Amino acid sequence: MNELEHDYLEIVSQVRAHLEYKKALGIDFVEVAPVARVQKQAAISTVSETRTGVSTAPAVTASAPSASSGGLAAVRDELGECTRCKLNSGRNTIVFGEGNANAALVFVGEGPGQEEDQQGRPFVGAAGQLLTDIIVKGMKLGREDVYICNIVKCRPPNNRKPESDEVKACEPFLIKQLQAIRPKVIVGLGNVAVQTLLKTKEGITSLRGRWHQYEDIPLMPTFHPAYLLRTPGDKRLVWDDIKKVLAELEKRRG
Ligand code: URA
Repeated sequence: MNELEHDYLEIVSQVRAHLEYKKALGIDFVEVAPVARVQKQAAISTVSETRTGVSTAPAVTASAPSASSGGLAAVRDELGECTRCKLNSGRNTIVFGEGNANAALVFVGEGPGQEEDQQGRPFVGAAGQLLTDIIVKGMKLGREDVYICNIVKCRPPNNRKPESDEVKACEPFLIKQLQAIRPKVIVGLGNVAVQTLLKTKEGITSLRGRWHQYEDIPLMPTFHPAYLLRTPGDKRLVWDDIKKVLAELEKRRG
């Protein structure tokens, strides 16, 4: 392979990695410059962006990106290779969140487990499968229709609960994610998510099943899917909560 071919393959691989990263953030558009404005310098800048993650030339968009997808990417950029709390030392990957950047519905969990930490994606382990079933089989939606994220973005060791300093360090990023997406409804999964979002010490058993407000967004607390794996008899209660969510989404459609 000559040097030119080698460089070409390198660029293709970096572009692919960049697009996969954007897709994982829920960004489903590609920034392109109109042909007339594509100059050698712009092409060089694009390549340098894929290498460094820092844009050296303002991108021209074919269709205006939604504020939310741009907003989410900015939040991810700001998070960077975070070392703001001690969870960074044990993590394999940051699990930022994934799904539709314009989702009407956001699920907020506690924090990544082992499988999530390996894959860099939220709710992909056993509890994640149950959440996926709730979304797909129960709500008749796709995971890609909603947005899924966590209170903390790095796996706590041995799946312990995130500690208050860790929640405090990570919370600004969750707040910014929610500000970028501006969902119509939030579902809080379990004590950590709900108590953090609602700033309460009240337990999930008494909070669930009733509407609460996060800023101006209705929030439905429900049991965490990991709890349901241990207590399958309570799936029925979660389904009651999810039916309220579906009714609220229907009411707010359009
Ligand atoms: N539990 C969570 O709270 N979040 C995940 O992403 C996975 C399991």
